[in-house]
Amino acid sequence: MRNFYTSFVALLCVVAMCVGCSDSSPKAVKGVKHVVMVGYDGLAGNTVEAAEMPTLKAMMDQGAWTLQARSILPSSSACNWATMFMGAGPEMHGYNTWGSRKPDFPSIALGKNGIFPTFITAIREKYPDANMCSMYEWDVIGDLIDNKAITYHKHVPAGESECRDITDAYIAYLKEHKPQVSMCIYDSPDHEGHGQGWASETYMSKLTLLDNYLAEIIQATKDAGMYDQTIFVIVSDHGGIGKGHGSTSMSEMEAPLVFFGKGIKKGYKIEVPVMRYDTAPTITRIFGVASPDVWRGRAIEEIFE
Ligand SMILES: [Zn+2]
Repeated sequence: MRNFYTSFVALLCVVAMCVGCSDSSPKAVKGVKHVVMVGYDGLAGNTVEAAEMPTLKAMMDQGAWTLQARSILPSSSACNWATMFMGAGPEMHGYNTWGSRKPDFPSIALGKNGIFPTFITAIREKYPDANMCSMYEWDVIGDLIDNKAITYHKHVPAGESECRDITDAYIAYLKEHKPQVSMCIYDSPDHEGHGQGWASETYMSKLTLLDNYLAEIIQATKDAGMYDQTIFVIVSDHGGIGKGHGSTSMSEMEAPLVFFGKGIKKGYKIEVPVMRYDTAPTITRIFGVASPDVWRGRAIEEIFE
């Protein structure tokens, strides 16, 4: 009888503990206060090795990386950017073409702001006061991020500035506001790929210019006193072949995904399969935010120390 009583009390304790642990949020990465995402439209995974990109390669050496993160189909822009932000594929969020500004067919679910939940939507729920910003050279991006949940977003057209304008605007914002989450999304090197071809001389020299700007962004986080508490995330939507993309060759579908900074493994090549829709849950995981139920991507746990 005494054994029964002891077991019964133990069982009650377990039940009580489980009632208390109903929160399914993942553990935040210790000491991380900022995520800095830098995105490149059309950066093919198979062009990086030959490219003169010392900053990106140093981040790979000191971070976790793959050059084979796979796009959803078609291997086009808006549908892949939406997928990165929304943690699920076009079949669910409905943004199905290169230039979708709104779902081409109804999203299977909507967040409270009337758009399929993005990582900005999810982080806002847990951090009502977080400063989150997005700057982008291609205006369509502005329709894919949940404008009502983000603190500030700005379309900075590439114009004649060769990506200088957006870099300057983004750096100024970083230094002034020290945002918890921020994105700087270039419309290059896609432009050069369509003009002279993927891996052409023009394309490759644009990669080097963008790499110089990446070094400036890193320096800006140091100037702002953010660097030691930051995870950098380098993303792209798709690659290319010849002067186009959208189809199923690996040159078109594979693009880099690089994580670097506080709490990230160093020199770690990501070997598990990675899809475009794994980006959002990995970013929310950094801040200990649970994925919305409707997401289908998974946090890439392997990258964390
Ligand atoms: Zn394109």
